Amino acid sequence: MAEQHEPEPFYENADACPHPEPNNETDPDGWDSWCDQHPACDDGHLCLGKPVGPGCSACSTEAGEMVPWSQCRTRDHARPKDGVVPNPGIDHQPVTVWVGSLDCLERECDEYVDEDGEDIATVDRCSHIREEQACSCQRQDSGEYSTNPCPALIPSA
Ligand SMILES: [Zn+2]
Ligand SMILES: [Zn+2]
Ligand SMILES: [Zn+2]
Ligand SMILES: [Zn+2]
Repeated sequence: MAEQHEPEPFYENADACPHPEPNNETDPDGWDSWCDQHPACDDGHLCLGKPVGPGCSACSTEAGEMVPWSQCRTRDHARPKDGVVPNPGIDHQPVTVWVGSLDCLERECDEYVDEDGEDIATVDRCSHIREEQACSCQRQDSGEYSTNPCPALIPSA
């Protein structure tokens, strides 16, 4: 089964964590609770007390190291259309976003270059990018927009 491009919580390696590993022989209870917080991973243990944010499970497996979810090149990313900045004073403001892969959003797909490999300045966005409406409440810290449903658009019961 192919791995899904999905956000997955990642944690720091316990090498660098502030929780010293108790001695299994002299402090078996302490060791047990340490193990609960520090599950084994490929190279040692993880520290559940030190989350490093979501990574993409499929990309990270492929790269052999954590690829942040914001850097997954395969999934669609939603970024505000050029010049669109929601007014911070207004809740649930419609925002026009461009949705596409990172290659397309970062002008790295084939449609932005001509046969000589030159960037075509007149191509504003490639045909793979679709324009959608998002809500200002879906804005993430990264500046991208999530697909989380907007609470203002859910009909109240
Ligand atoms: Zn720890
Ligand atoms: Zn990915
Ligand atoms: Zn909203
Ligand atoms: Zn494209």
